[in-house]
Order: sequence, then C-alpha cells, then structure tokens
Amino acid sequence: MNRREFLKTMFAAGAFAPFARLSAVTGLGALPEAIRSAGKVDRRRYKNTGTTLPMLGFGMMRLPRLSDGSIDEKTASEMVDKALKCGLNHFDTAHMYHKGESEKFVGKVLSRYPRESFTLSSKMPWYARTPEGVEKIFQEQLTRCKTPYFDFYLIHSLGKRNWATAQRLKTYEFLERMKKEGRIRHLGFSFHDKPEVLKEIVKAKKWDFALIQVNALDWKNYRSKEQYEILTENGIPAFVMEPLRGGSLVRLGKHAETILKNSNKEASVASWMFRYVGSLPNVLCVFSGMSRMEHLEENIKTFTDFKPLTPEERTTLALAIGSYEKGLAVPCTACRYCLPCPAGVRIPAIFSIYNEYKLQGNRAEFLAKMKALPEGSGPEECVNCGKCMKHCPQHIRIPEELKKIREDFAKG
Ligand code: SF4
Ligand code: SF4
Repeated sequence: MNRREFLKTMFAAGAFAPFARLSAVTGLGALPEAIRSAGKVDRRRYKNTGTTLPMLGFGMMRLPRLSDGSIDEKTASEMVDKALKCGLNHFDTAHMYHKGESEKFVGKVLSRYPRESFTLSSKMPWYARTPEGVEKIFQEQLTRCKTPYFDFYLIHSLGKRNWATAQRLKTYEFLERMKKEGRIRHLGFSFHDKPEVLKEIVKAKKWDFALIQVNALDWKNYRSKEQYEILTENGIPAFVMEPLRGGSLVRLGKHAETILKNSNKEASVASWMFRYVGSLPNVLCVFSGMSRMEHLEENIKTFTDFKPLTPEERTTLALAIGSYEKGLAVPCTACRYCLPCPAGVRIPAIFSIYNEYKLQGNRAEFLAKMKALPEGSGPEECVNCGKCMKHCPQHIRIPEELKKIREDFAKG
C-alpha cells in the first residue's frame, strides 16, 4: 500500500476520528476544563512565529511501569492530564520508546484532547534499512499516535554513522516531502556525536530545530557548549535532552549536595539542573522523562515563573559540579564514543555503576547492578585491545579502569 492509499484508508477507518470529532465539536471556544485552565508553565516562542512551546516538555521514554514492565497507563494518563492542566502541552515520543508502546500510549491518551491543544514530536529510528522501510515506519507512527501530523519530527540520534545511513536512504528528502504534505510541521534531528559532525549536518540541510544533550556536567565534558553554539550561530533553536543525565545528576554525593543546600535550603538538586539548561536563551524546550507524579509536579514548579540562575548561583553550581566530578571514580561522561567494543563490554554502563557506588557507597547495589549486566558485557570480557581508548575524549585508560572494577567486584 502506498502512502496516499494508506492515509485514505486511515481516514476512512476513522483512525483520526477523535481529532476530527473534538475539533468539530469543541472548536477553540469550548475546550475541556484541562485545557481551559492551562498556562502555568512558562513558554518560549518558536523563532518569530505564533508557535510557542512550554519550556518543559514531557518525554515519554520513562513512563511509569507496572511490575511486568508494561506502561502503567492509569498513572501515566493522570500525569498527562495534570501536565496539560498546568500548560505543559508538548509531548515527545519515539518509535523505539517502551518498545513501541510509548507511541501507542500517546495515541490513546492524547486523542482524548483536541489535536490543536498540544504539540507532539516523534522520531525516525536509525534501524530503518531501506527507503521503503523509512516510509513504512513513518506511516506506522501516524497510526500509533492517532494523529494526522507531527508538530516536530526528528531523525533520531544522528552521528557520523547514522547520518551516512540517513543520506543513503534519503530520509531527509522523504521527510521534507511529508512536511510539504502537512504531515510534519517542523523538521529536525537529535544528535549524539562530536561538534565537528554536528557542523557537517547543520550545513548539509535546512533544519528547523535540533535536540542536543545539555546539562551542567556535559557543558564542558561532552562539548555541549560547542554544540549549543553551533546551533545558535546557525539560527537553529535547541531542544534539550538529558538535563539530569539519566537521573545521575540528582545524586551528587554529600559534599556537592551540601554546597547547594547551603545556598538554597528549599531548592532540590533537580531544580538547579533544570534552571541551568533553562537559563540558556536559545533553548526552546527541555525534555524530561518523568516516571512519577512527584517529579512532574516538582518540575512544573521549576518552570512556572521560571527564574534563570543568577551569576552567584552559577558559581555555586559550578562548585558543586566540581566536587561531584572529583568524587567520580572514573571521569566518564557516558558519551559512548568508545562503543562498540569488539568484545561486547558495556563500557559507559559499567563506569556509571561504579561511579554511583563510589559516590553513594551502597555496595549491595553495586554488586546487584554488576550481576544484572547482560551476559558477555561485563568488565571480564575486556581483551585489552585498546581500541576504545583511541576514541575517549576524556583520555580514560579504559582497560585499566575495567580491571580495577573487576577486581573490586570479585571481592564480593
Ligand atoms: S580495550 Fe577492552 S574495553 Fe576497550 S575496546 Fe578493547 S576489549 Fe573493549
Ligand atoms: S569511557 Fe570515554 S569514550 Fe567511553 S563513554 Fe566514557 S568518556 Fe565516553
């Protein structure tokens, strides 16, 4: 079935019925209560257009789960309702989040609302193998999300290798066509590689926005500053991912946390981190994957009447981050440049487990996490080939560090 036939079938089958029905019935003057009372979270304007986005976007990759690992739809729906009530009306999903269930959940939960009352982003994964595969995935995403269009659409996780694949498959050209046909409103990409590669991608095509990793630790270590500046110089608004670096930046260790508490007794560590990225003027929206209602409520608070960091607070945060870095056993930034390891070692995952142990001192947790590593991916697999070290921007002596961790783990 080609694209045109597919969309015809979708409309005929009523796949977009909630959208059509709500638009027709409610119009803009009769929105549900959740939307009428929206408007607390601060918003930023997309370039000089009428489109605005909440400064905080709801990342749908770490939704609450039930004990069998499936999405806890009841809690997640309540969180979405709460978000919309508070003006947090941008949602970000991807084909692979929750093994495809995130997009389906998004379709289910958001189709209860008028389509124009929220904005939605999703992403073309890197595992499409043919141009037909790209098209098929995109159509599947529209179906899953029960939407006739994406407000923001990204090519997922571009770096040198994925950019080469995208060029070979002519992914950009297909998505550009979708934009012309109204299936995409803004076209961008998410990025994980060095600034040099980012420059190349930015110059190659016309992009409406880009999603990069920015947080208080990676600004320097991961060269996020350079990435942010490349986007800014090229007039490309930045979306931000990993503001808490996968949650690791809310546990900074006793010393660093005391520095922050001494400056502001009330503020949580997470709020410092969010204020850090929100203070950057070219950041349009900060994505946070929230899995608990308390996280959502706290983050909404941070982005309501948002206060950028003062120069004094910047100094305080830099001190805390400096102390945190010193406490790290291995200065790994999880950039993943060292991967893939030919022996299958999960290098950044192992370093992250070890760092957390050294910061928090919880040995039982360290042992449990090491045991939970998939077979064939632990530090004992390292054959000392040295390949990884050639790519590590932190110049970490990776095989030596792995050996140390292996020996520590062996003590039990
Ligand atoms: S030195 Fe060890 S960890 Fe690094 S690439 Fe070789 S086998 Fe993998
Ligand atoms: S070991 Fe080095 S290259 Fe690998 S993730 Fe850590 S910092 Fe990046």
